[in-house]
Amino acid sequence: MLGAGGIRGEAGEKLARLAFERGVNYVDTSPDYSATGSEQAVGRAIRGMRDQIFLATKFCTPIGHLPPGTPVANYKRAIEESLQRLGTDYVDLVHIHSCDEVERLMDPNVHEAFDRLKEEGKVRFLGVSSHTPKLVEVANQAVDSGRFDVMMLAYHHGLWAPVPEIISRARREQDMGVVAMKTLKGAKHRGLVDFQDVADAYSQAALKWTLGNSDVSCAVISFREPQHVDEYLYASGQTLTAEDRRTLDRYDQAIAGTYCAPHCGECLNHCPMDLPIPDILRHRMYFEDYGQEKEAMRLYARLERNASVCASCSAPCQDTCPGGISIQQRLDETHAMLSVG
Ligand code: SF4
Ligand code: SF4
Repeated sequence: MLGAGGIRGEAGEKLARLAFERGVNYVDTSPDYSATGSEQAVGRAIRGMRDQIFLATKFCTPIGHLPPGTPVANYKRAIEESLQRLGTDYVDLVHIHSCDEVERLMDPNVHEAFDRLKEEGKVRFLGVSSHTPKLVEVANQAVDSGRFDVMMLAYHHGLWAPVPEIISRARREQDMGVVAMKTLKGAKHRGLVDFQDVADAYSQAALKWTLGNSDVSCAVISFREPQHVDEYLYASGQTLTAEDRRTLDRYDQAIAGTYCAPHCGECLNHCPMDLPIPDILRHRMYFEDYGQEKEAMRLYARLERNASVCASCSAPCQDTCPGGISIQQRLDETHAMLSVG
């Protein structure tokens, strides 16, 4: 499945077509990916083959999430604008995007908007995506509500225990589709100097690990270069080997002290400035590991509170990270990396 976060412009359109030629038939996009650039490129790429592609987008605007209480008409308009950019009259799946609060998940207005769009034939299925510290709470509520057809969660090797149980419950109790994202655990494999010899083997092992869980329906992964089509598709249908496990262990050792786990949030209560530490580190990941420099800087600039304050802070966050991240130092560096000027 094609994660279209890094797809934009003519190059993105070509890359998407190449993936379709090789059998990829699911695309995940959003209005806020590349400030609508992703939806526009995907729209051009699927021209003439709409009926062969399962198309997913998000309840979202080009500049960010729709908060709880957004009028029904505005939720509907957001999807109708996506349909225009995508050049289609329906999407298969619409997610409540990067959901970090139950209030946004269960906003009656978003559910009414979805029901009306469905009656009008503009959407088929409702989903929720989450990769935040409230992932467990949000995902459990999504299952309990019975409202959702699909959930897309951060899911990768070495993840903490509650996620496999939630995924299993979603399948067992509600027959939901489960989409795994963030499968490459930070995608640091190309930038790690001592890891170059097994970089391709790593991404394939990570995908095999994820897809090895029979409760996972499929995995969304960002294709950013033509070589990714071969690299990622090779793993499809393969079984994890002992050698793969050793590669995953080696990767975990290499990223120790730098990888911020999407579900964690342990440090948040220790920051008097209420900084969104995982979001800041995620934007750094987009810049440094995903190669999406401009997008990372754009997202960082949109944060209400950023890491400019860290340099002069007494750092009560220090030593709170179970992953061993030196938070003050890493955020200070991140601010320098992602700030304009
Ligand atoms: S150093 Fe930054 S992240 Fe840590 S407590 Fe201070 S303001 Fe918060
Ligand atoms: S404690 Fe560490 S891993 Fe957890 S959210 Fe904070 S920085 Fe990320």
